[in-house]
Amino acid sequence: MQKLVVLGGGESGVGTAILGKKKGFDVFVSDKGIIKEKYKNALTNFNIEWEESQHSEEGILAADLVMKSPGIPDKVPMVKAIRTAGIPIVSEIEFASKYTNATLVGITGSNGKTTTTMLTNHVLKNGGLNVGMAGNIGDSFAQMIAEADFDTYVLEISSFQLDDIHDFKPHIAVITNITPDHLDRYNYQFENYIEAKFKITMNQTSEDFLIYDADDEVISDWLSKHKVKATLLPFSIEKELEQGTFLQQENIITKIDNSVFTMSKDTLALEGKHNTKNAMAASTVAQLLKIRKQTIRESMETFQGVEHRLEKVLKIQNVQYINDSKATNVNSTFFALDSVTSPTVWIVGGQDKGNDYASLMPLVREKVKAIICLGLDNAKIIDAFGAVVDVVVETTSMSDAVKIAYKIAEKGDNVLLSPACASFDLFENYEDRGRQFKEAVRNL
Ligand code: ADP
Repeated sequence: MQKLVVLGGGESGVGTAILGKKKGFDVFVSDKGIIKEKYKNALTNFNIEWEESQHSEEGILAADLVMKSPGIPDKVPMVKAIRTAGIPIVSEIEFASKYTNATLVGITGSNGKTTTTMLTNHVLKNGGLNVGMAGNIGDSFAQMIAEADFDTYVLEISSFQLDDIHDFKPHIAVITNITPDHLDRYNYQFENYIEAKFKITMNQTSEDFLIYDADDEVISDWLSKHKVKATLLPFSIEKELEQGTFLQQENIITKIDNSVFTMSKDTLALEGKHNTKNAMAASTVAQLLKIRKQTIRESMETFQGVEHRLEKVLKIQNVQYINDSKATNVNSTFFALDSVTSPTVWIVGGQDKGNDYASLMPLVREKVKAIICLGLDNAKIIDAFGAVVDVVVETTSMSDAVKIAYKIAEKGDNVLLSPACASFDLFENYEDRGRQFKEAVRNL
């Protein structure tokens, strides 16, 4: 019996363990931290051995195959020892994809993965496909393969999940954009992070498709220097394209071979240029999977949006409060500021990820009337914007931040929480930060 060791007892780890067990592996799960109760129960139900608070070397190095959960960095000593011992390490999506013949849509990028994945899932479902949504969102892909039987999977895939793929190949790959993020995991080399993202296409053939943002210079530059086998279907909001998706006046046009698809930009449910791009990507996927044109148009109009992503919370005294807590990097905040049309009180800050705020300067000058810094260390933000915005306030409490914003904002303004930073200095995670914001707004 082949021994499968799973490093990490979270969503991907437990999904892989269950799938491995069902496929006849002798499975052992090892987690250096504490495994959540629900996952322990799942493992016990399937008679899978596990350990927590340690990695016991003897058991682990007896593996024939190791699945390393995406959250575990390569520099962890146990991972190094496994590599030195020559034991193959795979990622969860690699392992899971061996056990399905379904059509795979893989969506990666620095920002917009979740929105594009959910939008794609929404339109494919409306089109009558038997589709499962998994990956970095909700259930792990492995868990889905173990317990469900879908014809098509829409997978949200992070760069960490691509790190240890060998043969994984989506039929349709999407790269929404590439901007610096998670560089701590890539030796602070942007190049390494870019390479990780492009792994999504490395096993694709000419029958497969790569959909990507043609306005993204990092992507275009990489493509100009590398040969990709997949058929390329770019999208752009800046220029017309021979093949792919672009804007013509207020219409979104897609040209694939000789077929032409049109939908109106103004009827899209999600606002902002970034969401136009996400809609372009999702609609291109839907067209490749032969969803009816009218269904695609209707789905783009009815999509409800995703919590914590430019989520309109409440209007109080004609001030719109917007929760964009998921903006954990500068680029996502760029699109948030770009999409607001009226003067804005901006709540920003948190744990810095090596941020460079220069790209936000024109938008801040044009739209931001006050900055409320919500973080333990706000020096960089104050340095960047202190001279161009009249009001800059610091606080470490969400409810105070919202109360201060309430005092400053006038009729017609926005109050926008779009932190451009991670949340871990003051909050459990970005969801906690977003929920606290919404609660504080409702308490006003
Ligand atoms: P991800 O799953 O890649 O983190 P999300 O869809 O959760 O992406 O969005 C994360 C943040 O980025 C949100 O603040 C959202 O408004 C913003 N965003 C969404 N799509 C894009 C895009 N295409 N380009 C830039 N920012 C985006």
